[in-house]
Amino acid sequence: MSKDKSARIATPQAVRGTQDMLGDFADRFAHVVDTFERVRRLYGFKRVEVPVIEPTAVFARSLGETTDVVAKEMYSFDDRGGESITLRPEFTAGIARAYITNGWQQFAPLKVATHGPLFRYERPQKGRYRQFHQLDAEVLGSDSPLADAELLVFADQLLKELGIAEGVTLTLNTLGDAESRDAWRAALVEHFEAHRGNLSEDSLARLDKNPLRILDSKDPRDRPIADSAPDIDAFLTGEAQDFFGAVTAGLDAAGVAWERNARLVRGLDYYRHTAFEFVTDRLGAQGTVLGGGRYDGLIEALGGPPTAAVGWAAGIERLAMLLADDVIDNRLDAVIAVEDDSQLALATRALAALRNGGFATEIVASGSPRKRFDKAAKIPAHALISVGIRDGEPHINVRGEGDRSKAAEAVVRAL
Ligand code: ATP
Ligand code: MG
Repeated sequence: MSKDKSARIATPQAVRGTQDMLGDFADRFAHVVDTFERVRRLYGFKRVEVPVIEPTAVFARSLGETTDVVAKEMYSFDDRGGESITLRPEFTAGIARAYITNGWQQFAPLKVATHGPLFRYERPQKGRYRQFHQLDAEVLGSDSPLADAELLVFADQLLKELGIAEGVTLTLNTLGDAESRDAWRAALVEHFEAHRGNLSEDSLARLDKNPLRILDSKDPRDRPIADSAPDIDAFLTGEAQDFFGAVTAGLDAAGVAWERNARLVRGLDYYRHTAFEFVTDRLGAQGTVLGGGRYDGLIEALGGPPTAAVGWAAGIERLAMLLADDVIDNRLDAVIAVEDDSQLALATRALAALRNGGFATEIVASGSPRKRFDKAAKIPAHALISVGIRDGEPHINVRGEGDRSKAAEAVVRAL
């Protein structure tokens, strides 16, 4: 190595599994968030903000110690005051904590939505990052199946408005009420015990604490055993059947297509009744774009009053990757070429008038004046406005087509 090189300061690298975004992907990301913000208002969901950091207990207690997230994926550390802090790996637990600490029971049923960064120590790959982002919607304090249906119709409309509903399927299951679930759990344990010798190590560990989770194991050793396990249907109480029937009736009435997936369980011990995922085969192994369910026991597990609740989360990066190529229109309304420096003030007035009037506008005023028109013409815009001198007089020329161009022209002609 040369002397020079060793003297150079090493540039810090980004943390593995994090992403920098600029241009096209940043635009796609923003488009997903903007669409979510618009649609959540249509469904009457209030905006909520919760901290990125929470006491570790918020997640350890609510997610359950055997879930992948708590067992392997959390970014936890002791802060300078000696408190164990965790970077949020999901939204639901933090929102449930906020519901209790702020006394939001008074607003029940409370419909809230949020979005932002989350952190999980995962193996980075396409569609899987250590800092990633989610959209999140929750209904707290409602035990009505109409709440489940409303959340699902909301999710379906979001995917349709993003233009990605094609090729994305809503898969739905019920985990029943406590009674159904306990009976089913016992039958599953019996089934899995009988096949103990052939289960993967991970599933053996789940057998004691979280046997339902074996059902959605991705390990090929577990698949035949999981596939031959009993469905919940035989164990559903009449009440649980009615609940599931009301959710699916709500979906059918709203015209939302769904498929039953009797193997679908979502990890948490506190899940009840509805569990669902919107899945696609367009993202390789990372095929779940949106998932959620009803978690009636969670708020109580965090020390709050018994509170029925249901919600979902969707990965923003995965949604952004699915968007069609032509959804982002970055075209400006107008671009101004200053062809003669003596007219800079006039061009600047035109620029200010357009921007104040709500027209997205850029100006090309540097470099050789002769080249500015061509430079401006390369910037995608509805109108190309040149400001210069003709016959010794200030002169404005506008080229363009369509309503935006005409409206921009009217603004500069009125100067
Ligand atoms: P997976 O099975 O893909 O690990 P999950 O069950 O851990 O998903 P949830 O906790 O339900 O995912 O999170 C909801 C959504 O957040 C997922 O459907 C996915 O779109 C997104 N998501 C989860 N983990 C990541 C990650 N590490 N990177 C990017 N997106 C993610
Ligand atoms: Mg995961």
